Amino acid sequence: MNYSRQREVIYATLKENVVHPTAEYLYSLLKEKEPNISLATLYRNLNQMADKGIIKKIDGLESASHYDHNTHEHYHFICHKCKRVFDVSSDVAPDIVAKTEKETGFLVNSYDIIFNGICSDCLRKIREDN
Ligand SMILES: [Zn+2]
Ligand SMILES: [Zn+2]
Repeated sequence: MNYSRQREVIYATLKENVVHPTAEYLYSLLKEKEPNISLATLYRNLNQMADKGIIKKIDGLESASHYDHNTHEHYHFICHKCKRVFDVSSDVAPDIVAKTEKETGFLVNSYDIIFNGICSDCLRKIREDN
């Protein structure tokens, strides 16, 4: 399988997956389509795409990074119970970049905003158990 085709398959698999998968999870999906792909190849492609801004890499949960095909402005919320990564609309603080630039005089190229906590599914379960 050639290089650009590999990347295409990886990107398509990421895009079909709305839950911000880890590389390991993506790998388990990919192996069904492309049994020859290696985890090292997957990591290399993901990191290259993240460097180029084609995808987003989300760090912040233990050792595993999550990947996101959605590079539009949005924030993330990581649930520390179920380990899922959720999107948070940038509407909650739409002027954060402008305010930061005004406050500091810096030029913002990119940012990663990650909220940590417990998602609504897990909160419901905790409340039901009590
Ligand atoms: Zn949760
Ligand atoms: Zn996202």
